[in-house]
Amino acid sequence: MLDADFFRRWMTAAAAAVDREADRLTELDSPIGDADHGSNLQRGFTAVAAVIEKDAPATPGAVLTLAGRQLISTVGGASGPLYGTLLRRTGKALGDAAEVEEAAFADALLTGVDAVAALGGAAPGDKTMLDALVPAVDALGTSFAAARDAAREGALATTPLQARKGRASYLGERSVGHQDPGATSSALLFEALAETAD
Ligand code: ADP
Ligand code: MG
Ligand code: MG
Repeated sequence: MLDADFFRRWMTAAAAAVDREADRLTELDSPIGDADHGSNLQRGFTAVAAVIEKDAPATPGAVLTLAGRQLISTVGGASGPLYGTLLRRTGKALGDAAEVEEAAFADALLTGVDAVAALGGAAPGDKTMLDALVPAVDALGTSFAAARDAAREGALATTPLQARKGRASYLGERSVGHQDPGATSSALLFEALAETAD
């Protein structure tokens, strides 16, 4: 069973991973974006870690709902509302249980990923964060480690794709040959999750 402390530790680990990889995320966002993905997420997850520490939400659902709201209010770029929706909708789907089964978490996360797809109008293959999120949530039924590996592979597999959504899509064919920054940060979230579960 996963309790509120598990989800608080996940968000703290995610903030640390984003902090560590911020420069690389921003570098990935330079050739096919506006070079702010690392700083956007660093600002957002620093604020998430702080508010979670301060408010100490008591249920898994409350932790993720608070984290999502914080991302939406602190990150200006496309990734803020998208990641904010992912966490907020996953949190809502978890309800107010004090502890959740891993299978219930996987179901809730699928609801969150579907909400990201609905908000951004993207699908796997469009060279976005969904290229990591969709395979990861599929693999979560197997294990946290399988989800981490699927997210990483999904992120790497964005390199040959042409972007069809977001800022990178303005480049058309010139977006080919670069790894998507959002898929890369999604892989970090699943890396942090697997680390938390270890
Ligand atoms: P911005 O493009 O506003 O500067 P960021 O640089 O923080 O925002 O985030 C860019 C990332 O957001 C992209 O690499 C991509 O993964 C993701 N993204 C952009 N638009 C969409 C969308 N419509 N659906 C899903 N993900 C998207
Ligand atoms: Mg950007
Ligand atoms: Mg931007």
